[in-house]
Amino acid sequence: MALRITDECINCDVCEPECPNQAITMGEEIYEIDPHKCTECVGHFDQPQCVEVCPVACIPVDPQHVENRETLWQKFQRLQEAQTAP
Ligand code: SF4
Ligand code: SF4
Repeated sequence: MALRITDECINCDVCEPECPNQAITMGEEIYEIDPHKCTECVGHFDQPQCVEVCPVACIPVDPQHVENRETLWQKFQRLQEAQTAP
């Protein structure tokens, strides 16, 4: 499942550099997570790093992007391949 950032986000900037997939970017008003890049940190860390650092706990799982661990792992591998492609 990808995660999403709710409107409780206070734009504190701490999650964005923690994301190993560069899935977090500043949106029009608050930070946003690209569901195509978020692997819930699968492949990199045991726990979602953005959730670990968010001071206001505003990063729940996104019910519109339900994915099991296998799917998240495949997404991780696709992202790795895209990064290493010439
Ligand atoms: S869970 Fe991990 S991959 Fe997804 S947005 Fe947060 S830090 Fe990035
Ligand atoms: S850590 Fe939480 S409050 Fe801070 S920018 Fe990220 S989502 Fe928003």
